[in-house]
Amino acid sequence: MNSRDYLVRAMLGANQARILAVRTTGVVTEAQRVHRTTPVATAALGRTLTMGLVLGAMLKADETLTIQIKGDGPLQGIVVSANSRGQVKGYVGNPHVELPLNSSGKLSVGEAVGQGYLHVIRDMGLKEPYYGTVPLQTGEIGDDFAYYFAVSEQTPSAVLVGVLVGTDGVPLGSGGIVVQLMPEAAEDEIFITELEERLQVMTEVSSLFASERSPEAIVEEIFAGLELRFIDRQEVQFFCDCSRERFERGLVTLGADELRELVDRGEPVEVVCHFCSKRYRFAVEEIDRLLQELGNSRA
Ligand SMILES: [Zn+2]
Repeated sequence: MNSRDYLVRAMLGANQARILAVRTTGVVTEAQRVHRTTPVATAALGRTLTMGLVLGAMLKADETLTIQIKGDGPLQGIVVSANSRGQVKGYVGNPHVELPLNSSGKLSVGEAVGQGYLHVIRDMGLKEPYYGTVPLQTGEIGDDFAYYFAVSEQTPSAVLVGVLVGTDGVPLGSGGIVVQLMPEAAEDEIFITELEERLQVMTEVSSLFASERSPEAIVEEIFAGLELRFIDRQEVQFFCDCSRERFERGLVTLGADELRELVDRGEPVEVVCHFCSKRYRFAVEEIDRLLQELGNSRA
């Protein structure tokens, strides 16, 4: 299977619309492996990771973004973080959710997510972060991001995102295609109608990405006959930048009293990274050292 994940960017027509298409089968397989998510949780997280990569591809070089989906469903929310270099990480509140298939025989992502809000926080380094919030539409993720683009970024967009999960719980295919209308095309009824017709025939985006076809081939097939120009491509991966040092700094922020309490308890401390489930163990002597250093830095 062609499991290499990457994102392609293309322009359609006379620059009337831009397309971002990304295969995320490997990304979602890794997410499923580290979080041991059930199929419905895999689909919800996988769709959001895919959207994280699409939004990440719209960032400037040093920017990062965080997506928070706060729904009242049994999944207990989704958090995804991405950068402009094709790296994404994320987790769900409850990876063990099990729900019966919905009335269309699909994984009940909307029910798992529930009602609530989609937040996008764009961190632009020294500048004030940008916050965008919209109410969730269906909790199916694709609809929610289409609404987000329309309302929060004033960009009419079609969002197709899907994860196909095998009977053994392992993702078979995952990916997304986002088509955004450029301002100049907003009045071009013929072009919009043509676009809508193309997109209507392809609802099962996950099976497209489960095939061996490249993202370019998938895009070419959907928009066959229209003027299409590929701009660039970027490798994408599930990547967590956590480290022992980072968690060490986290322990230090607890303060001297709390650290002393941990030392007095006389047991090693284990911390788990939410994003990648990696465990870091700190021996009592290490915590004691952090406590000493904290004392020295204050003196
Ligand atoms: Zn991590």
